[in-house]
Amino acid sequence: MHTAEELLKLQPVVMKQLQMIFEKDRVGHAYIFEGGKGTGTEEMMLFFVQLLLCENPKNNVPCGTCRSCQRIKSGNHPNFHQVYPEGQFIKVDAIEKLLNEMSKTGLEAGRKIYVIHSAERLNVKSANTLLKFLEEPEGIVTAIFVTQNINAILPTIRSRCQHIKFREIQRDVMVKTLVDSGITQSMAATVSMMTSDLEEAFSLAKDDAFALSRKTVLKLVEATFKNVHEAMLVVHEDWLPLFKEREQVEMALDLLLFAFRDIVAVKANPEAMCTYPDLVPTWKDAALHTTFNKLSAQLQAILNARKQLQSNMNKTLMMEQLMLNLQEGKSFV
Ligand SMILES: [Zn+2]
Repeated sequence: MHTAEELLKLQPVVMKQLQMIFEKDRVGHAYIFEGGKGTGTEEMMLFFVQLLLCENPKNNVPCGTCRSCQRIKSGNHPNFHQVYPEGQFIKVDAIEKLLNEMSKTGLEAGRKIYVIHSAERLNVKSANTLLKFLEEPEGIVTAIFVTQNINAILPTIRSRCQHIKFREIQRDVMVKTLVDSGITQSMAATVSMMTSDLEEAFSLAKDDAFALSRKTVLKLVEATFKNVHEAMLVVHEDWLPLFKEREQVEMALDLLLFAFRDIVAVKANPEAMCTYPDLVPTWKDAALHTTFNKLSAQLQAILNARKQLQSNMNKTLMMEQLMLNLQEGKSFV
């Protein structure tokens, strides 16, 4: 569970929006929380639910220790219900069960909250079953529909909800969060280029295989600065034995692309934020001995290699061709 400070850093706009709704006592009937993977929709939903049900909130933050907060954390608050898809859809049975739970008398007084996860998976029948309750709930009820894509939610549901839009996590926020949890600055900078999902970034940063991939790619980049023979040697001795599966090669080519992008960035602005901050002195030196035209051709050569990979070109041949192209600074299409 994230703290209020962490959530504020991850999603400042949403956090303030929700706290304002609570403070002004303008809590609506229904919300759609829309955000991509890793943007914190689940964490924010739990925060909001706790805030709405907390017995002792302070400064628009739930106390975290009252009976209500504790029951939400342990997943057994009688006024809080969650529905998940089963297989491809949210089945009508699940909605009927929810409505049954929500209409039970003897619940605690006060607000009742239900959350529909992956709400785009409500089919027409399930949505219709829910619709009347959504429009005319009994008592004080708040619904939260969580989704990665609001446009995939049925219009009948969508039109009755307030839209809370979660932004992609900013790269500098992600780097800082990773560094604060003990990841090195250089690794944090690299993984933040590979994904915008904080959890995924964190596990990538702690993955030994990824660290080896990063090292191997950088070894190849430095070899290309020397001559094509050195580069071919690294390709055969390090690169090809390590990157065998297509997804691995794709990731390695991305890492390679980011290295050349760093050189472009440093050449344009010595203070630029790099994917490999630990290599900035090397990039600065490389930038002095090259031109934007050559760098642009090198980036294009890597992108072409990625395309050839998709058309199932032989991987050894593809890499040898790429080494020649990087050396020449030409791109053979
Ligand atoms: Zn509380």
